[in-house]
Amino acid sequence: MERKEFKAESKRLLDLMINSIYTHREIFLRELISNSSDAIDKIYYKALTDDNITFNKDDYYVNIDVDKDNRLIKISDTGIGMNKEELENNLGVIAKSGSLQFKKDNEIKDGHDIIGQFGVGFYSAFLVADNVTVISKAFESDTAYRWESKGVEGYTIEECSKDSVGTEITLKIKESTEDEDFDKYLEEYTIRNIIKKYSDFIRYPIKMDVTTK
Ligand code: ADP
Ligand code: MG
Repeated sequence: MERKEFKAESKRLLDLMINSIYTHREIFLRELISNSSDAIDKIYYKALTDDNITFNKDDYYVNIDVDKDNRLIKISDTGIGMNKEELENNLGVIAKSGSLQFKKDNEIKDGHDIIGQFGVGFYSAFLVADNVTVISKAFESDTAYRWESKGVEGYTIEECSKDSVGTEITLKIKESTEDEDFDKYLEEYTIRNIIKKYSDFIRYPIKMDVTTK
C-alpha cells in the first residue's frame, strides 16, 4: 500500500472548504452524481466512435446505496473508471478541476458559490464524510485500485479487485454533533430530496438501495 500526501495548495483549499463551509453540505451528492454522469458520458462517446464497443443504455446508471447502520453512502457508476494514475492525479489535486476552468472560460461568477468557484467537486464528499473510499476499474484495464482518504492528511492507494468497469465511492458519514445533524444524510427521504433538487436533469437512471434495521 502506498501512502501519499496531497499537494500543499490542495491541502489549504481542502482545509478551508471542510472547516469554513457549513451551509450547503448537501451539494456533495450533486457533485458525485455529476462526476458519475460525466464518466458515463465518456464511455458513451467512446462507443459512438468505436464499433467494437456496444453501448446498451440499460447498462449505464448511477446507484446510490445507503447503509444507515454502518453510516455509509455508496455512489457507484458504470462509467469509464479511473486507473491508478488517474486516481492520483484527478482526486489528489483540487486546483486542477475541470469545472473551475469551465467556469473561468465561461465567466460564470457567483460570489456565494465557493465550492463551484474552487471547483472542489470531488472533495465536497468531505463536507459530510470523515472517510472516503474510491474503488475504480478503468475501461480496458485488468486491475482495479482502492483509494482512501480521511481528508487533509493525504490518501492511500492499493490494488484491489472489482469485477466490472466503473467507480464506487463510499462515504463514511460524520457523527452528528450538538450543532449539526449529519444523521439526516442517511435518510432515504433526504437523499431523494437532494437528488430531486440538484440532479433531476441527469440523463442516466439514478437507482437507490436502502438498508435499514
Ligand atoms: P471536475 O468534475 O470539475 O473535473 P471533480 O473534483 O469533481 O472535478 O473531479 C475531478 C476528476 O476526477 C474528474 O474530472 C474525473 O476525471 C475524475 N472523476 C471523479 N469522479 C469520477 C468518477 N465517478 N468516474 C470517473 N472519473 C471520476
Ligand atoms: Mg465534478
